[in-house]
Amino acid sequence: MSKIKEFDAAENDYLKNVEEQWSVHMLFDRTVYCDHNTTNFVESFNAITKANGDMPVLTLLEAVRNWCMKRMGSRFDKVVGMEPNDLTEQAKGVLATRTDESRFCHVTAAGGGEFEVRDGHVKFPITFRNMTCGCGKRQESGILCKHGLRVIYNQRLDPRNFVSPFYKGVAYKLTYGDHIHPMADPTHWPSLDVPEIAPPQGKKNAGRPPKQRRRVAHEAKKGKSHNNNKCSYAKN
Ligand SMILES: [Zn+2]
Repeated sequence: MSKIKEFDAAENDYLKNVEEQWSVHMLFDRTVYCDHNTTNFVESFNAITKANGDMPVLTLLEAVRNWCMKRMGSRFDKVVGMEPNDLTEQAKGVLATRTDESRFCHVTAAGGGEFEVRDGHVKFPITFRNMTCGCGKRQESGILCKHGLRVIYNQRLDPRNFVSPFYKGVAYKLTYGDHIHPMADPTHWPSLDVPEIAPPQGKKNAGRPPKQRRRVAHEAKKGKSHNNNKCSYAKN
């Protein structure tokens, strides 16, 4: 930014005014504890519907319903044995890795619930009251960083109590506490006294309906590697 300012002060002012348009940290919402803000889930959805992409819409929706039923069903069964304070598999994994890393940290108590944790040659201040660490990992992920964990283990406390409820049985239950019930074939449905909906009278296009999703103009072509993600230094 200082180099831009040197080059053109007005440009610097402009960039500061629209920071949320070019800087991820301005968009980052700490209350959600997740910095994933991508369209990848659309790709996952496309992968599921691909096999049925050229089917009539009801067949496609039935395939989606069946897939959702299977996915939610397995998680619904998992929730049954989960206590509110139990961690999800993902959180357990992160906690285990950070616990391993925490062995190399050294804690000095500063009194008043404040600690200084040395990690190699770098020191991080930790406030116990709101469990914030200078490295920012706990604030962005909702799971204690290795420095915070070292303090927790030194105090003989349970690290699970310092993990956001988003990663616990309590949130998992709220998400997967219900499931999609199995459905009978339409031929077994009760008959209702309502008019039958006929398909639209549109003209059918010649040939097989396309399976591939139509990409918008600026979207990269599928399977092509991007060669614009390297700077001029990295190329050399
Ligand atoms: Zn930390």
